[in-house]
Amino acid sequence: MSSGFRDTRRGGNKPGGRGIRRLLVANRGEIAVRIIRTCREMGIETVAVYSTADRNSLPVRLADRAVCIGPPPPALSYLKSSNLVMAALSTGCDAVHPGVGFLSENAEFARLVRDQGLIFIGPSPEVMELLGDKIRARETAARFGLSVTPGSTGAAGSVEAAEEAVRALGYPVIIKAAAGGGGKGMRIVKKAENLAEYLALARAEAEANFASGTVFIEKYLENPRHVELQLLADGNGRVAILGERDCSVQKNHQKLIEESPSPGITESMRNSMADGAVKLFRELKYSGAGTIEFLAEGENCYFMEVNARLQVEHPVSELVTGVDIVQEQILCCAEGRMETSEGQVPRSGWAMECRINALVPGTVTRLEIPGGPGVRFDSFLYAGCTVPPHYDSMAAKLIVHGTDRQHALLRMTRALDELVIEGIKTNIPRQKRIIEHKIFRSGNFGNSFYETISGEIEHGLD
Ligand code: ADP
Repeated sequence: MSSGFRDTRRGGNKPGGRGIRRLLVANRGEIAVRIIRTCREMGIETVAVYSTADRNSLPVRLADRAVCIGPPPPALSYLKSSNLVMAALSTGCDAVHPGVGFLSENAEFARLVRDQGLIFIGPSPEVMELLGDKIRARETAARFGLSVTPGSTGAAGSVEAAEEAVRALGYPVIIKAAAGGGGKGMRIVKKAENLAEYLALARAEAEANFASGTVFIEKYLENPRHVELQLLADGNGRVAILGERDCSVQKNHQKLIEESPSPGITESMRNSMADGAVKLFRELKYSGAGTIEFLAEGENCYFMEVNARLQVEHPVSELVTGVDIVQEQILCCAEGRMETSEGQVPRSGWAMECRINALVPGTVTRLEIPGGPGVRFDSFLYAGCTVPPHYDSMAAKLIVHGTDRQHALLRMTRALDELVIEGIKTNIPRQKRIIEHKIFRSGNFGNSFYETISGEIEHGLD
């Protein structure tokens, strides 16, 4: 047995623990590969699911078994709860890992999984419902002493309610969908004359994307940092904090580069976020991995939302802490325990991640993966594989770990230079330019950084 994993297999015999034998990975792409890898080390068999577009994908090759769950459109496959649960039951799985995106924050799916006697690798459906609604999450966070982004107390159900909220906040404001995600359903309003129109647009977009037109209003902060805490909780009130990540490099509210620690956070800011975060997760009897997102402006860290699932950028926290977050999620949710100690987890060095997106899908004709000290490449790509057009454009994550930020920057530059992906068009040239940019190198930037330099970054690239 090659695994360095310690006692999970015995965990199944612990009182109250439910050791997992076989797990359904209810997702695709790089996150499915990521989950399969940890399961293999834990001695857990995996069942991959695939749409017909993903028949020859890497997760299908790596898993012990694979089940087709439908045609390419996500609504008919990866978002189809009944197909996923059927796949789990028919292959004798005892647990389901939802991954990232798709149904990972869908409380109804979590409930369906639980009702079938399967373990859901995530918090309970009740906790997901509470945190999945951004208005209720804000209220709950405020109750536990976290300072929330200034905003309307409830939904902005009418133009009058929106006007009243704006009177207290002042322009600019941002209208957000209560059920929002992926940067959708947000509208920045700078002038009173646009309020009614943008409110209607945001509500329509929210209704179309999230089947709920409920929106609320926040003060729009100019160029804050996006900082988030990675937490693990065992469902019995024990909570570990794996430091923060800075995800301020965003294009259209979507993250491009993440790092840990944040170059703009002081120890007192870190502690104030952590105090409220631990209280919140402890009180909710939260189970598994979760992220609390904040906007940092000056010395203030404002609660924004909770992502009650694994996150794309989790590897940077893994590299600075040495914790396998997927392993811990599984232990927390299946056995009510984790190997990580409660409280602040010691961290070392500096980690950074570049998301590698396929700007034009197609077939990969050549792939050269960087390696060497401190380099990790999480991806579903292999030479000859197809990147289908139906799904999220992220194809890989290049992650580096160095002794400090300067060292991590050198490693990222070196690793990006080594990375060759041919056959599909990717954002590698853009990522190289951001990494080399003097403002990024200075560490002194907020979430409108990319917008202000996008002209320089895009110049000469098609
Ligand atoms: P989603 O859940 O759709 O990803 P978020 O609420 O996480 O939406 O916001 C996405 C991004 O939008 C944040 O990371 C931040 O950069 C920006 N943003 C959100 N709210 C504000 C705000 N009040 N002021 C300034 N920027 C904001």
